[in-house]
Amino acid sequence: MAGGRPSGEKTRCGGLWTEARFKSFIKGNLRAATRKWAPIQQCRKNAHRARGVYECAGCHQYVPPTIYDEDKKKRVKNICVDHIVPVVDPDLGFTSWDEVIEGLFCELDNLQLLCLKCHTEKGVDEVAARSESKANRVLWPREESSYRNMKSRCYNPNSTGYEYYGGKGIKVCDRWLESFQNFYEDMGDRPLDTSLDRIDVRGDYNKDNCRWASPIEQARNTTANNFIEHDGLILCIQEWGEKLGIKPSSISTRLRRGWSVSESLMVEEREVPHRGRLSVEDIEDLVSAIEGGVTQTTYGKYIGMHSSQVSRIYDKFKGKIDEE
Ligand SMILES: [Zn+2]
Repeated sequence: MAGGRPSGEKTRCGGLWTEARFKSFIKGNLRAATRKWAPIQQCRKNAHRARGVYECAGCHQYVPPTIYDEDKKKRVKNICVDHIVPVVDPDLGFTSWDEVIEGLFCELDNLQLLCLKCHTEKGVDEVAARSESKANRVLWPREESSYRNMKSRCYNPNSTGYEYYGGKGIKVCDRWLESFQNFYEDMGDRPLDTSLDRIDVRGDYNKDNCRWASPIEQARNTTANNFIEHDGLILCIQEWGEKLGIKPSSISTRLRRGWSVSESLMVEEREVPHRGRLSVEDIEDLVSAIEGGVTQTTYGKYIGMHSSQVSRIYDKFKGKIDEE
């Protein structure tokens, strides 16, 4: 955005306030104000080891609070109270002033004292993470946004829905936390009109528990959907299970597999030829059904599997069955 921000003429930057300049101006002032913020002062005190020596939380060396900078020919600050989780999430970038303020004026548990060298290195890493995330966003915008939102739901208490994810102890597996590339390698392209869905809603985000699912598939799978209406009665899955003598987990599995409510609440097991591992005959059956024009979704419902699983099996075995 061009122009238009606070009083134009008297500013040092020629009177032109870009959005970025405006943000950094406000952030700089807020940051300055944190000098009086008690947890920040406390953090500095806690790292004080002896007269004029502080312990860096990064390299654990004892360092003086200022050092002589030969380039600048003067003494410069050598210690810095650092926000462990950055004030501005490297992945998300700026979101809102509320979040910036909350981040800057945080509690002691997100603060550490770093020496200049460690603090600079941390900053460089964060900038690198930010630009990598930007690059991914350009190349794989849809997948990257799923990835970013997943992390944010689980680890950013300010994000919408955190209470249902991070707040409930839902985590992202280490492999995915490590990089977007790992996530993309496991999940592949995100089909249109789908989003990231956990198969077991109480489980974590990892390769085995995630799929790209349509809104309908997801709705079937949310915790809110644990309430089921049937025969004029609304009960949660747990209660239906007790009432009918079915394991609640079977009910949710059935729903997840696309069974109707009444099918899911059937006391006797529906004929499901394939639970768990498939026999050679089962696989042949599957391959020929798909080749015969049965859709993967329909066949999946028939054998109680998700269509993506059917598709995976089909892709894996279609060539092999023919050869034999
Ligand atoms: Zn250090």
